[in-house]
Amino acid sequence: MQETADPAQFRSELRAWLESAPRPEGLRDYGPTPTVEDVPAGRAWQRLLADAGYSCLHWPVEYGGRDASIMEQAVFAEETARAGVPKQLGIVGTNLAAPVIMRYGTDAQRARYLEPIRLGDHLWCQLFSEPEAGSDLASLRSRAVAQDDGWVIDGQKIWTSAAAAADYGLLIARTGPERHKGLTAFIVPMDLPGIEVRPIRQMDDESKFNEVFFAGVRLPDEYRLGAVGQGWAVATATLGTERLSLGAQSVSMFSDLEAMIAAAAQRDRITPLLGDEFVSLWTRIWLLRATWLRAVYDDSSLDSPTFSVLKVMSSETHRDLGDLAVDVLGLDVTADFRDNALARKMLVARAQTILGGTSEIQRNILAERVLGLPREPVRKDG
Ligand SMILES: Cc1cc2nc3c(=O)[nH]c(=O)nc-3n(C[C@H](O)[C@H](O)[C@H](O)COP(=O)(O)OP(=O)(O)OC[C@H]3O[C@@H](n4cnc5c(N)ncnc54)[C@H](O)[C@@H]3O)c2cc1C
Repeated sequence: MQETADPAQFRSELRAWLESAPRPEGLRDYGPTPTVEDVPAGRAWQRLLADAGYSCLHWPVEYGGRDASIMEQAVFAEETARAGVPKQLGIVGTNLAAPVIMRYGTDAQRARYLEPIRLGDHLWCQLFSEPEAGSDLASLRSRAVAQDDGWVIDGQKIWTSAAAAADYGLLIARTGPERHKGLTAFIVPMDLPGIEVRPIRQMDDESKFNEVFFAGVRLPDEYRLGAVGQGWAVATATLGTERLSLGAQSVSMFSDLEAMIAAAAQRDRITPLLGDEFVSLWTRIWLLRATWLRAVYDDSSLDSPTFSVLKVMSSETHRDLGDLAVDVLGLDVTADFRDNALARKMLVARAQTILGGTSEIQRNILAERVLGLPREPVRKDG
């Protein structure tokens, strides 16, 4: 990765652009993935980012990115959070699918899928988790059976963010009995006959999650990503990238804390106790940001357990920041959360400790790979 000569200059140019750029109608900072309603504004926003050279910063220059240093990515995360705009149309396309297409895809797949992701024309979803296979992803059962002309897919996925509006999905399916070597990755056009998407209503009244059912879905072999049996390698590469992205998001928590303090001041609720909480969280975010920046300089390998430390630190700080909304808002927290960004944060912040590998799973990784403790028992029935 190239190092930025002057991150401060990048920051001031980006900030100036963010201040002057037009906002597509209905644009809001919807987080890593849009709801169906957010998609038109999200697409238009990503096109504006692309035209200005700010889309897919981390991609290599040959694919239209700018080979951005981690520092530039951190600055981008901070400045977009400050401006209250999304970082991209959807994180799955730009940060999860694209890197594995670059690494495992054919030239034809790279030519076909990367540019529409960069321009915001194609929204992607991640078809990994199943009802009986979340943390233990390798036990997944959705299967792809080889036919003369391709594959037939049957099975069910769950918690698929953005599936209801996605153009493509990155699917891991079982092609053989071996736990890891029996998995293969596929690119799936989401409008194929036999795919049914059922939205799940969340407690914050949004509906980003979906169940996705595959019934006899025929998929030509040109949609296979990587070799047959390489699905586990594709999945783990994706999850490593996901953890890195989560670290990048963490730097934006300063703006959330500022919003929390402003809301407390507005309600005249700042007590010494609440002040202590603010300072304690500010210190945690500050340490997190410093640790994250140092870690990416020291060791950029996505397999590093360092990213598990950061995932746990950032998601649990996020959760605690969300919980603070109860003290800040008082009884207002029970009011309609659709109109209340802080109450909504309280409801959704806990999700960070689950997605991309739960806190318990991150601790298992640290126990086994850093402390050398005995491995977790593995289910044998999968
Ligand atoms: C906001 C959000 C977005 C998501 N988006 C997607 C998406 O787009 N695509 C997708 O495929 N998935 C997505 N997921 C699903 C996510 O990957 C899974 O929720 C996650 O992997 C956990 O799996 P699970 O929910 O099945 O929980 P389980 O794996 O059933 O875990 C249940 C509980 O048991 C604990 N546990 C499990 N195994 C162990 C163990 N070995 N040791 C200790 N504790 C353990 C877990 O930590 C957890 O507390 C999303 C989740 C969230 C919250």
